[in-house]
Order: sequence, then C-alpha cells, then structure tokens
Amino acid sequence: MTSGQQLRLYNSLGRRLEDFTPSEGSVGLYSCGPTVYSYPHLGNMRPYVFSDTLRRALRWKGIPVRHVVNITDVGHAVADSDTGEDKLEVAAARELRSVEEIAAMYTRAFFEDMAALNVMPADDYPPASAYVPEMIAFASRLEDLGFTYRLPSGLYFDTSKSPGYGTLALLDIEGQREGERVELVEGRRHKSDFALWRTEEAGKRRVMRWDSPWGWGAPGWHLECSVMSMALLGDHFDIHTGGIDHRQLHHVNEIAQSEAYLGDGRPWVRFWLHNEFLVIDGSKIAKSSGPVPRLADLVAMGIHPMAYRLFLLGGHYRSQLDFTLAGVESAQATLRRLVARVMPLRPLPVVETREAADSLAGDDPTAKAYLDQIDAAISADLATPKILASLQESLRDPALTESGQRLIVAVADALLGLRLGELELREVEGRRSAADLSADEVSQIERRVAERTQARKERDWARADQIRSELEELGVQVTDTPAGPVWELL
Ligand SMILES: [Zn+2]
Repeated sequence: MTSGQQLRLYNSLGRRLEDFTPSEGSVGLYSCGPTVYSYPHLGNMRPYVFSDTLRRALRWKGIPVRHVVNITDVGHAVADSDTGEDKLEVAAARELRSVEEIAAMYTRAFFEDMAALNVMPADDYPPASAYVPEMIAFASRLEDLGFTYRLPSGLYFDTSKSPGYGTLALLDIEGQREGERVELVEGRRHKSDFALWRTEEAGKRRVMRWDSPWGWGAPGWHLECSVMSMALLGDHFDIHTGGIDHRQLHHVNEIAQSEAYLGDGRPWVRFWLHNEFLVIDGSKIAKSSGPVPRLADLVAMGIHPMAYRLFLLGGHYRSQLDFTLAGVESAQATLRRLVARVMPLRPLPVVETREAADSLAGDDPTAKAYLDQIDAAISADLATPKILASLQESLRDPALTESGQRLIVAVADALLGLRLGELELREVEGRRSAADLSADEVSQIERRVAERTQARKERDWARADQIRSELEELGVQVTDTPAGPVWELL
C-alpha cells in the first residue's frame, strides 16, 4: 500500500471529479493518436504531454499502465466527415509521394517531437492500416446485430438503436439531428448516423482500398479506435484520453459502436479524460486552419522543447492555454532559473513513486510536508501548476536540507518530466538579440566590422574573410548590402 491522497480525475462521462482506482491490477490507457498527413504543430502536442502527465501520476501511485496510441494512416477524411477524400491521399497527391511515404515521414516527425518533449513512449502504436480485417469483422458483427444499414456510399451505424447515444457529449440528440455540424449524406436516416465503411464511388478508385462485404473502400474514421483498443487492451479498459474536440463526435461514436458490439450492458470505458485546446488569438489550433508553429519553429527561435513542455504544464490540462511567444520565452526563463538552481544538487536520485519518496524522506518533517503538497496536487486531477509552485518554493526554503531539496526536485521532475537532472544551462540560454548586448560588446563588434570593410576596400580578401569567420565564431553574422555591411546575431 502506498500512502498519500486518493487520485481523483475529472471524468467527462458525468462531468465530475471521481476517485480513480484501477479495475484490475493494471490500467489500460488509450489515447487517440495523430493523423499522419502533415507535420504535427504545437497544438497537437498538448494531448500527449497531458497523457504523459497522467502516466507519471499513475506511476507515482504505484499503478502499472499499458498505454496504446494509434497512428491514423487511413480512414480519416478531410473535415472529419463521412464522405470525401482521405487526408493521407490528399497529402500524397499534393506532395507527389506515395501514401506510405507520407505516413512514414509524418509518423517519424511525430515520434521526434514526442522524444524532444520527453513524452514516455507508449507500449503500442498500432497503425490503422494494419487492422482493416479486424475492422471489417467488427462492422460485420454490428450488421449481424442489426445496428447498421447499407447505402451506396457505405455501411452506416444507426444511432437511434444506441440507447445511450451522446451521453458523453451531453448531446441533445434531436438538437444534433437538426444541427449543422454534419454534412449531407444521401439516404442517411439521422444526422448523427456515421459511416463504419466508406464504399468507393464507381469510377473513383481510392489509393488505399480493401474489399469488404460492402464493396471496395476504406473504414470510417471512428472504427479504428474501438477495434485497436479492444485488440490491445481487452474489451473493457480504464481510461481513454483525447483532445476536447473528440468529446462531441469521435468519442461519442466510439462509445456507441463499442457498446453495441459488446452488448453486455456495461460501460465500455470507465474514465474519459479530455484536454483543452491551445489557443492562438482566441481560436483553437486545428491542423486544417493553416500553418501554425511547430516545435521545430520554436527550436529555431532558440526555445528549448523542455521550455515548451514547462509552458504547457504551467496551465492545467482542462484550461484553455493561450499561446504567445512571450509566454514560452518566460517559461524558458523559469526553466533556466530552475536548472541553475538545481545544478549544484546533482546527481539527483531516481524517485518515481510515492513509496520510494517516503522511504527516502525518512523522518524529515519538512521534506514530508513538501511530498504531501506535491502528492495532493497530482492527486487533484493532475494540478501541474501547483507542483511547479511547490518545487520553486522548496528550492527557496531554508528549512529544507540539501538532501531534502534533492529529493523534492527528483520527485517533482518524475511527475513533470522536465529533465531537471540533466539539462545543461547552455541548452536553455536561448538566443540573444542585439538588444541584450552591452555598449562595449556592440562597439567591439562594430570595430571588427569596420576593419573588415577596410580590408575589403584594400582588396585584402583573406583578411576580410578571416575577420568574418572570427565574428561568426562570436555568433555575429555580417551581410553586405548596397548600403554597406549590416550585422546581426546568429
Ligand atoms: Zn480515436
């Protein structure tokens, strides 16, 4: 038994905080993964930093987890609709590559970003394209059970036959049926009905296509998550996560088809957790809305990925977070101060569980008080901003011994994943701008630039080049323009 607070999580099913206890020894955790048709942007990172925090919280409580994240490489139509082209096929045509190349390239980019953000790898990353026969079998069973109907455009799930349809979204079914969210599909009985199978139109051969009882075509987008999660985690499992946009449609449909398929009267998944959006200028970042910054863009601006992780964790996962460059830069400054403060305490111990932390704390009452604070924060629906506050307070607290500080930093970092035990100060220095230079530094640079200009006038190219490379070593780049040389910091 571990001591400490009961873990409480906000369950979207019922919209309330609930005590979380694993139903059996280990927790099955499924997170909706990326559609690999373009580079993931900063908003796409938030669900995975969130589910990573959840995993760290479960580890802290001594609860083993099996985590599955799907890779959507087929079936996701543009505009999340039931008809229309597949996102990957559109991307392949645009980039003159095969769909396999597109999937491989953007899957790799996703993994690179996950690693840079110190997100722990999942146990499985099933690609949808590897589970199409299982999806066909799943849809066939729904058809046998009478939950579906056929149209020329595919096989549809009849949501009027699903008694609890829309509970997760608190949907007013009649309202949704009259709503404008859904596109017009010829012959569809209710607007909330969705495609399990999308049959290809005559004369419009798809690139990714499989034969099925409903003709050649591809699976509907919602099917893969039900099928792959059950295949890898069992029929019922404990936690399903995703972005809050999934709460209204994708997860509603996953639940409807899964509970119809299982037919055992039990809720399919016990806990549904959703992270809020990252917001730029008041609008959520969706991939379809045009180019938005990627992690690589931040890195090019001198922002370390751990600073972006800290920026995300500085807000609670259920609050919208406004993205600003100033906000990320300020997170980097906080990270820099933390690293500078933690360096003399290294090496840090590895302390991943409350149990291990308690035994290291011994009978140090100050250390124990901080452990209680941090435990209370993570137990209260993953309150990462409070853990950060406790960490900062502990580092300033004269009542805490050095070994106590070492323990609290190790514990906070096991939960926050900021790599405080290993980051080098120079990694989080960021790029200086000319405005940060002292007057002396500026006049020194300008003297060297003037000497180079003089060397060029004298056609002493060797000396001019020599000065240019010396300046570059100092991080100064000189460009010759019609108005004379200008310099900037690299
Ligand atoms: Zn999903």
